[in-house]
Amino acid sequence: MTDDERTVLISGAGIAGATLAYWLAEYGFRPTVVEREPRLRTGGNPIDVRGGAVAVAGRMGVLPRIREARVRTEGLWFVNAAGERVAGMDLRGSADAPDDDEVELARGDLAEILHRASAARTEYLFGDAIRSVREDPDGVTVTLERGGDRRFGLVVGADGLHSAVRRPAFGEEGRFVHHLGYYAAAAPLTDDHGVADHWGAVYNEPGRMVGVSRTVPDRPAQALFAFRQVRPLDYDHRDVAEQKRLLAEALAGMSWRTPLILEQALQAEDFYFDAVSQVRMPGWTRGRFALVGDAGYCPALLSGAGTTLAMTGAYTLAGALRESGGDHRAAFARYEAEHRAVVADGQSKAAEYAAELIPGSREAIDRRDALVGLPS
Ligand SMILES: Cc1cc2nc3c(=O)[nH]c(=O)nc-3n(C[C@H](O)[C@H](O)[C@H](O)COP(=O)(O)OP(=O)(O)OC[C@H]3O[C@@H](n4cnc5c(N)ncnc54)[C@H](O)[C@@H]3O)c2cc1C
Repeated sequence: MTDDERTVLISGAGIAGATLAYWLAEYGFRPTVVEREPRLRTGGNPIDVRGGAVAVAGRMGVLPRIREARVRTEGLWFVNAAGERVAGMDLRGSADAPDDDEVELARGDLAEILHRASAARTEYLFGDAIRSVREDPDGVTVTLERGGDRRFGLVVGADGLHSAVRRPAFGEEGRFVHHLGYYAAAAPLTDDHGVADHWGAVYNEPGRMVGVSRTVPDRPAQALFAFRQVRPLDYDHRDVAEQKRLLAEALAGMSWRTPLILEQALQAEDFYFDAVSQVRMPGWTRGRFALVGDAGYCPALLSGAGTTLAMTGAYTLAGALRESGGDHRAAFARYEAEHRAVVADGQSKAAEYAAELIPGSREAIDRRDALVGLPS
């Protein structure tokens, strides 16, 4: 193995990117992470770290910090247009007894914890992105938007649903990204909208959902929006103003506190909007390129599995590179073989969860509410 083989460029400083950087450095590689945004993205709603990902966090030594940042969800109300509680779940019994196999925390807190764990041994380049890549038998020449030309042994896309590595190395987004028929958005609010600490409230109209959650201690309430949109929307996924306009149009005329919640969310800087889509690919590696996390196998927003697949995938890929002594062909084959079943399981429930949160008709909303019932 040449020295060059140990240099790895990772595109994206999210959950997968930081986890991979940590483990590559741990195994003697030299990771560089290039992140398009000028600083770490810390927005988003709480996400779940489950099973294998809890074990990965434990081996990284960050589990105590993850547990400290854990959110406590005591329950969730489904409300009607007048704000009356029509169904709900009281989770207080389970909230008091932390489950070792699952931790829920704000996405931004997790991103920060993982970034901090990896930063000392990783070169982070914020506010830059890959412009083009050129592979040859000995490595990859990468041209960065701002940083000019650099040489790396391997290039890994950990840059989410709209990966900039997937396009040149594997093909157009449309071949791999499968739209599940919904869009979702998240933003911080300036008001709690009557929702108690550690609780959430959800309001539905057919094919549309507005939620407010107060589960992250000492932070403003968070809004979560979702709407059904069978045909994919044609928009620039980097144009936040356009995304805000699309959300406002989709939720126009909704009752409950929607106009107020929407107004606050649309003013938030930390606004997140994306399609509820799944990435399905026959392979996540090609030549000297590999994909981890949402870039290669996004299970879809709302599925609750994205973070776990990203962390376990990054750990498996780094471990495979170590085991193969840096022979990337053998390592990539091993990564594909070991992680495929984990991804299949994580992706299997996404559509089901979305249908539960965003029922398509009045009857389906009533049916869901009757099924959930009111806590005694
Ligand atoms: C701000 C934000 C909020 C989110 N909120 C939620 C949420 O509320 N609920 C939920 O289920 N999931 C949310 N997600 C997605 C969730 O984090 C992922 O599904 C999951 O954790 C898998 O992580 P990942 O590392 O593959 O992708 P991500 O965590 O999405 O990280 C991808 C990173 O790549 C960067 N990036 C994108 N394109 C480029 C490029 N061309 N060059 C360089 N860098 C690039 C992004 O800025 C981001 O930092 C959110 C993601 C982000 C970025």
